[in-house]
Amino acid sequence: KFIALEGGEGTGKSTQGRMLEQALRQNYGLDVIMTREPGGTPGAEAIRALLLDPPGEGWEPEAEALLFAAARADHVARLIRPQLEAGAWVISDRFVDSSRAYQGGAGGLGDHAIAALHDFGSHGIRPDCTILLEVDDAVREKRLAARDGDTSDAIGGRSASYHNAVAASFRKLAQGDPEGFRIVDGTGTAEKVHENVMAALAHILEG
Ligand code: C5P
Repeated sequence: KFIALEGGEGTGKSTQGRMLEQALRQNYGLDVIMTREPGGTPGAEAIRALLLDPPGEGWEPEAEALLFAAARADHVARLIRPQLEAGAWVISDRFVDSSRAYQGGAGGLGDHAIAALHDFGSHGIRPDCTILLEVDDAVREKRLAARDGDTSDAIGGRSASYHNAVAASFRKLAQGDPEGFRIVDGTGTAEKVHENVMAALAHILEG
C-alpha cells in the first residue's frame, strides 16, 4: 500500500511519518519504506537542492512546478513503484497533493496543469490513502515563527497568507475526495496525533 502524509509546514508530517513507519513495522510486521518529497532518490534529492537553494533569483512558478514533477517522476519510477511491486508499504512525506496545494492552489497554476504534469511524469499514480494533517492558522504561524532563523530546509520568502492559502487549498482537495483523503487534527501531542493517524488508516490496515 502507498500512504502519503500531507500538510503545510509545521503540521508535524515528518514526526508522524517516523511514528507511522515504526508502528507498521513493529505492530503489523510490514515491510515499510519511508521516503519524502521533493527527494527520495539521488536524482530527486539533487532537484530538491535546486528547489530549496535556487541559483540566481529563484524559479518562475511554471519552472518550479516542472522541477517538482521531474523529481516526482524519478522518485516514482526508481523507488515507489518498484517497492510497491515488491510488496512493501511506502509512506511518503508529501506527494502530488503538495504540488496541487502549493503550486496549483496557493501558487495559482491551477489543478489541471498539475494533473497534466503528474499524468505525464508519473502516469498519474495516486496513494491508497492521503493523510492530511491540519493545524489552524494561528498554531501554524506560531510553529513557523519558532523555526525562524532555520529556513535551510524550506523555500523561503513566503508570507503567512501564502501558507494560509496552502492550508485552505489542501482542505478543499481533501473535502473534494473523501475516499482518497483522511483529515487528521495535528494539534495536541505527537502521541495523540499518532493515535488519530492509526485510526484514520484502519480501513486499509484491516481491509
Ligand atoms: O516538507 P518539507 O518541509 O521538506 O518541504 C521543503 C520545502 O518545499 C518547504 O518549504 C515546502 O513548503 C516546499 N514545497 C513546496 N511545494 C511542494 C512541496 C514542498 O513549495 N509541492
